[in-house]
Amino acid sequence: MNTLQVDALVVGGGIAGMQAALDLGDQGFKVALVEREASIGGKMITLSKVFPTLDCCSCITTPKMSAVAHHPNITLFTYCEVKALNEKSTGFDVSVLQKPRYVDESKCTGCRLCEYDCPITVPSSFDRDLGAYRAIRVPFSTAVPQTAVLDIENCLLCGKCEKVCPVNAVDFMQMPQTFSIEATSIIVATGFELTQLGAKKEYGGGKLANVIDPLMMERFLAPTGPYGRVLRPGDGMEPTTIAYVQCAGSRDKTQGVEYCSRVCCMYAIKQAMLISGALPMAEVTIYYMDIRTFGKGYEQFYQNAKAMGVEFIRGKVASIREDEKHNPIVKVELTEEGKIIERTHDLVVLSLGMIPAVASTSLNATLGLIPSSDGFISAPALNSSPCATSRAGIFVTGVASNPMDIVDSIITASAAASEASAYIHSKTEIRVQQHEVTYA
Ligand SMILES: Cc1cc2nc3c(=O)[nH]c(=O)nc-3n(C[C@H](O)[C@H](O)[C@H](O)COP(=O)(O)OP(=O)(O)OC[C@H]3O[C@@H](n4cnc5c(N)ncnc54)[C@H](O)[C@@H]3O)c2cc1C
Repeated sequence: MNTLQVDALVVGGGIAGMQAALDLGDQGFKVALVEREASIGGKMITLSKVFPTLDCCSCITTPKMSAVAHHPNITLFTYCEVKALNEKSTGFDVSVLQKPRYVDESKCTGCRLCEYDCPITVPSSFDRDLGAYRAIRVPFSTAVPQTAVLDIENCLLCGKCEKVCPVNAVDFMQMPQTFSIEATSIIVATGFELTQLGAKKEYGGGKLANVIDPLMMERFLAPTGPYGRVLRPGDGMEPTTIAYVQCAGSRDKTQGVEYCSRVCCMYAIKQAMLISGALPMAEVTIYYMDIRTFGKGYEQFYQNAKAMGVEFIRGKVASIREDEKHNPIVKVELTEEGKIIERTHDLVVLSLGMIPAVASTSLNATLGLIPSSDGFISAPALNSSPCATSRAGIFVTGVASNPMDIVDSIITASAAASEASAYIHSKTEIRVQQHEVTYA
């Protein structure tokens, strides 16, 4: 089993993990970044534009992904998972599983000839299953690394990809491999998932064709999205009335998510503004209980949306059903007027909340980390050392610690890198002292 020695191991290659790795790498520390997916980029690379500036998400994320891949102090491992951890006096001995891509990473040039010849089409998880890709593919156009991955479960084993590959990179016999990383410190940046679309049964998510989640809407609005325009999934029609239901997964005891996910108000307002640009004739309504615009420039962003004609209705959505044309009908209790109304829309977006990435639960157990009561990784000294976890030498950043936006993810990433840097220095000084004692 090969062993790589580094100063820091970063787990998770979203914006937070990438930023932490870059900060440490720039300071001269050796860093290994382990990402479970076939490309780094996290959720941010799937978004359309960012609030409150409406900058293109891909334009911000892609250079960071590239910087990580080309940084002389960062070694990138994609399609890998942390499987075990042992603590030693000098740090951590981490066992990592490399999942088989069935493509030799050292040979693949990302030419995509395999993809063009593959006869099997499968729903694209990158596009939230709204589009399709091939069983063998480069995960998306700006993926890092630009290396194909084969979905063996959907593969016919027809061998077309193997025949067409100019560098003989396809390897159906590839097996999972384990290797070891020795790291002085660890930064956990495993991010989030959305609450289930169908979790609140009365909202019809997962059953009603034209009730979707907000990451689906991000893909509709993204220039790299499956259709390059906003269409409702039920029948491909261009929607003319679109509604957002806020707090459709957060601030809800019945869902076990009592906390506010913090970004839902802002992403709904952002999407409403982008829809107004993409479909100028469309009416957009946001049903909300409270609007929380906590960040710099966010309140102005909200006011701009109102001025653009986005309709905000204060009320609690009780249920959503559909008519015979599959138009969602939203039943709302108007809390200020004290009455109940029903309105029909073409498309409804449920503003789902953020929960810790499901796959990170077992990772936390492996790393010996204690989750808080909300499931996110606990940072016991929040006011003095906000990224330190319950285990010395292990730090947390981004949404792995708490729901937050991109600005805060980047800030906590730099904070985690800074705390890790101080820890690595303290450990290195101990090592130097021990060395001096041993050889004095
Ligand atoms: C619909 C929507 C729109 C949004 N729009 C905006 C916006 O416009 N502006 C804004 O500021 N914020 C926005 N956000 C919030 C933004 O997405 C998050 O702040 C940001 O993505 C958090 O980054 P992260 O790196 O912490 O997590 P993630 O982006 O989730 O990245 C985590 C990474 O860790 C990997 N990972 C997970 N588990 C493991 C494991 N066990 N081992 C290895 N790797 C693992 C994942 O595959 C992923 O690559 C939006 C959120 C949503 C849901």
